[in-house]
Amino acid sequence: MFVLIFLPLMMQISENLKNILHSLPEKVKLIAVSKNHSVSEISEAYQAGQKVFGENKVQELMEKVDKLPSDIEWHLIGHLQTNKVKYIAPVVNWIHSVDSFKLLKTINNEALKHNRHIDCLIQMYIASEETKFGLSLPEAKELLLNPETSTFTNIRIRGLMGMASFTDDKNQVRNEFASLRNYFNELKQGFFPNNPLFSEISMGMSDDYPIAIEQGSTMVRIGTAIFGQRVY
Ligand SMILES: *Cc1c(COP(=O)(O)O)cnc(C)c1O
Repeated sequence: MFVLIFLPLMMQISENLKNILHSLPEKVKLIAVSKNHSVSEISEAYQAGQKVFGENKVQELMEKVDKLPSDIEWHLIGHLQTNKVKYIAPVVNWIHSVDSFKLLKTINNEALKHNRHIDCLIQMYIASEETKFGLSLPEAKELLLNPETSTFTNIRIRGLMGMASFTDDKNQVRNEFASLRNYFNELKQGFFPNNPLFSEISMGMSDDYPIAIEQGSTMVRIGTAIFGQRVY
């Protein structure tokens, strides 16, 4: 029974992973978004060679970290409240959802306490939906112009992250990703011209990652196309 029902399901994860990795350009990093999927499903992906996982909730991330191998690179990709940074600071490698100076400062302070460095992406608002988090270009500039930002020793600002609108209109999605790439180029030129660390554009999910790659994505965050539909 177990073999008949579960084995094909589990093999599906490694099969999906293999197919997606084949379709990605070599320089694009795959973040396997494991939110709402079990530790055993993540283990299956890990055994297939995937070492980079993304979660969108602090509590769920922390519950999983202890049960999985310590060489996993964990990315927090969902909205992050300042008062929860302390929980993830000892374990998280990347935070994609920096959307305020206060949050960035807190991440730096908490990383400092653990003698760690955390790679951060500034989340930009590119969608036409009211519900999406993120900064406008002027707000991102304000954050980077803050004199305190350059004194943060335990964070590295690695680039930008954005989410396109949930729409079937591929042109709209393409335009939104293009605007994120343009924001990246402008901020790179203005603030990080000689800093090779500012190099990442995190954009693209299961339904839109081919368009994101066409528009210059360097990190895709893919859940459903690897693990199947999430059951809430
Ligand atoms: C859930 C999530 C993803 C992955 O979405 P899929 O459509 O399942 O690939 C990517 N980015 C963020 C921020 C998410 O919350």
